[in-house]
Amino acid sequence: MVASSVLGFPRIGGNREVKKAVEAYWAGKISADELVKSAADVRKTSWTSLKERGVDLIPSGEFSLYDHVLDHSAAFNAIPQRYTGHNLSALDVYFAMGRGRQADGVDVPACEMKKWFDSNYHFVVPEFSEETDFKLLFNKALEEYNEAKALGVVTRPVILGPISFLVLGKAAKDAKASFQPISLLTKLLPVYKQLLADLKAAGVESVQVDEPVLVLDQAAYLEKQYAQAYAELVPVSPKIVLATYYGRLDSNLSFVAKLPVAGLHIDLDRAPKQLDEVVAALKPTSQVLSLGFVSGRNIWKADLQAGLALGQKAISVLGGDRVIIATSSSLLHTPVTLASENKLTPEQKDWFSFALEKAEEVAVLAAALSGSQDAKISAALEANKASITKRRDFERTSDDSVRKRVASITPDMLERKSPFAVRRQLQDKNLGLPKFPTTTIGSFPQTSEIRAARAKLNKKQISEAEYDEFIKKEIEYVVRFQERIGLDLLVHGEPERNDMVQYFGERFQGFVFTQNGWVQSYGSRYVRPPILVSDVSRPGPVTVKWSSYAQSLTSKPMKGMLTGPVTILNWSFPRADISRELQCMQLALALRDEVVDLEKAGIKAVQVDEPALREGLPLRKADWDAYLKWALPSFKLSTAGVSDSLQTHSHFCYSDFDDIFPSIQALDADVISIEASKSDMKLLKTFKQYGYSNEIGPGVYDIHSPRVPSEQEIKDRIASMLENLPENLLVINPDCGLKTRGWKETEASLVNLVNAARWARQTY
Ligand code: GLN
Ligand code: ZN
Repeated sequence: MVASSVLGFPRIGGNREVKKAVEAYWAGKISADELVKSAADVRKTSWTSLKERGVDLIPSGEFSLYDHVLDHSAAFNAIPQRYTGHNLSALDVYFAMGRGRQADGVDVPACEMKKWFDSNYHFVVPEFSEETDFKLLFNKALEEYNEAKALGVVTRPVILGPISFLVLGKAAKDAKASFQPISLLTKLLPVYKQLLADLKAAGVESVQVDEPVLVLDQAAYLEKQYAQAYAELVPVSPKIVLATYYGRLDSNLSFVAKLPVAGLHIDLDRAPKQLDEVVAALKPTSQVLSLGFVSGRNIWKADLQAGLALGQKAISVLGGDRVIIATSSSLLHTPVTLASENKLTPEQKDWFSFALEKAEEVAVLAAALSGSQDAKISAALEANKASITKRRDFERTSDDSVRKRVASITPDMLERKSPFAVRRQLQDKNLGLPKFPTTTIGSFPQTSEIRAARAKLNKKQISEAEYDEFIKKEIEYVVRFQERIGLDLLVHGEPERNDMVQYFGERFQGFVFTQNGWVQSYGSRYVRPPILVSDVSRPGPVTVKWSSYAQSLTSKPMKGMLTGPVTILNWSFPRADISRELQCMQLALALRDEVVDLEKAGIKAVQVDEPALREGLPLRKADWDAYLKWALPSFKLSTAGVSDSLQTHSHFCYSDFDDIFPSIQALDADVISIEASKSDMKLLKTFKQYGYSNEIGPGVYDIHSPRVPSEQEIKDRIASMLENLPENLLVINPDCGLKTRGWKETEASLVNLVNAARWARQTY
């Protein structure tokens, strides 16, 4: 018998119940008990629907109110001291770590957040030091296992493995300089043993232990630690299926295959080529192989015929009892279900599978591979075959003019006319900004009024013209506010945008949209990625009307605001039929036209955001060049069509630039803004070391938390930034857009920012 498995399920609820409950709890509108109850309801629905769809190995323990890595830190008592001793409940300590807390005399910033592997999900980075005192404060996997069992659903608990937990974490500020989190392994393992032994005692048959770090280059140096950890854990644990995902094992396979675990899961969506090697390596063992065939990362229907072929290949060597058909990773990156989509055409709907439909795919495949004669299974296979054929037929219809334009891109289209030093002078004249210019990253608070107006427009309760009037008022408010507090380079505030990617997707050809296709980005922030389905073009200007209106209100320069090609691609569900490179170049051409149009309309600075550039970087270094070879040119293509006196900006969110620094320089944006407020200036040292030559705004405070930075705090930041950056290159800005913030904290924070910049002008 071939079993089916889902590695993890979206934990947001089919109607975003978790977001609503969590935010209501934060706002003091519901109690902790009510929050816990809503979460349990969502888990119940997930478990029972997976069971109904025939999934054999149903996950538990991977649910989260904020982030699963944070859950783990909290359960293992990896709680930095600054969050304790405030008399907060465990739940409030947990949220304080996730989002900071500024209330009732407690004032702590959030822990650092980082992109989860190469996805758009962010996790809360664990902090370790020699003092970390691991203890099992609660056994979430066990609690949820029991909870599901009481509902009649037997699950396979999921836990984050010890090595990945340590490696994904960072050394706390107070740790010794030489301290490395992995050195805590020996101290950590007893707690894992206890957790796993408790599961075993409760009758758990097998657990999924996630070790995604195994697909990274750095795992090659962790062979000893992996051997030590699993030699200790296996004897006390239920059967362990070691889950690897988002990439390939490569040479790490040589030691992974020797670990005494009961099974191994591999990602065949991201790394299909590793199948033969892994099958061969497992052949002499008794291990089960979990084939991650159904993508946990995209929303395209799986080709079940291909899945059958792949399954048979593994079965022919290992036998059916040693094969599991699974999703490639957790389904956390996909929306809950297609069933709630009413606006996609039947043709479009037939192309896709969301989480629940994917669950069905693994179940159908496993049943078919087990030799099921059930008519429902053969009908499902037939229907899938027909859908896959129809999509292939659709894919053949491409837009010739777009394809031709991409084919005729020439190298000179990628370069600005003059080098930065020359451009800088022209731009200084054109813009007239002071030393240490202040600016923001683009968006201002997306208030409930803005969202309500958009909802009314969508429901046709107000006209297009009425909506535009409303947006103009919002823009005017934002412009006047910026003038009043004395910001230098203004923005229009992006009130017209539902989302920085969706907004452009809706105005370009080539995308379709869901109504309810939410996926978690971080904490209670969810996004609804557009889906690229055909060739991309721009029917007409998108932002020019708003930017020029905003500019008409003020004599200060107004920065145009666009989302870059790589980010649009990365934060959409891309096509699977043509390369990402081709999709990205199509987007870049559309954006290039927009940048040129903004300049024609009198805009003197244009920001093209690329927060997803870094996260799109392949996980393995060997693959980087292949990505950068098109990612960098696509950004340059989108920004280089203008005159030297137009100042181009680009923004990147959390980014570890150490290893791709030359690429950031190669983008040749006149000004970049980066996230440095939470990484303790590490980033800037890199910029200094390499002698970054263009202007840079490292982000003087963290906007991901509602906490207001004091003026002194910002001054201190500026001072420490100036230890690493030349005075003439420093721009003063928050570390990201303000759309998720309220006006109150936004005003207070920006006033402090402007005052700190004034102080800097006098001091330096
Ligand atoms: N311009 C965007 C904003 O301010 C950038 C957001 C982002 O980088 N994620 O909202
Ligand atoms: Zn950002």
